[in-house]
Amino acid sequence: MRTGLIQIYTGNGKGKTTAAIGLGVRAVGQGLRVHMIQFLKGGDNFPQYGEITSIKRLSQFTVEQFGLPHFVYPNKISAEDQRIIDTGIMRARQVLIAGEHDLVILDEINVVLKLGLVKLPVVLELLKQRRKGVEVVLTGRDALQELIDIADLVSNITEIKHPFTKGIPARKGIEF
Ligand code: ATP
Ligand code: MG
Repeated sequence: MRTGLIQIYTGNGKGKTTAAIGLGVRAVGQGLRVHMIQFLKGGDNFPQYGEITSIKRLSQFTVEQFGLPHFVYPNKISAEDQRIIDTGIMRARQVLIAGEHDLVILDEINVVLKLGLVKLPVVLELLKQRRKGVEVVLTGRDALQELIDIADLVSNITEIKHPFTKGIPARKGIEF
């Protein structure tokens, strides 16, 4: 039985999701099965992310998106927003319990928590319920301290510079 740990990629710098996917690509190359559940992105107003198109070409790396069709503001959460997130959390629980994947990425789960779209005890419980040996990666800025406390690996990606701040908009193939 492999050792399945909890990893977190957080911070305000660029590279959390791409780091998680890079890890997924490495894992697939070693014969592991990877599943990514991506929250908040994938709605109608978002661009098609290049990485999703690429992942779909890898048979051992699967992805499901639970994106909302608009940007979510903490004080304007609709019942529909909540329903999509609830569905994603339910899927995350199923996947973690089933243990059919060696690596499970919960992309932007930290932001989902921060927005109050899921409660911390729910996430702690589904992590605890996961099949032994499943490695979990949690991404998104503003990781909660309680998750950092239970994680085995935490990387904080700090923004030192980002071209966005000097007015360079998101570039196809680089930011999405
Ligand atoms: P990436 O998906 O490039 O690895 P990320 O997961 O670290 O980035 P998110 O917080 O998920 O970053 O950001 C969503 C989008 O904003 C992505 O297109 C990302 O490239 C871009 N982005 C990330 N960090 C910054 C930043 N500091 N300033 C502006 N845009 C950013
Ligand atoms: Mg991200």
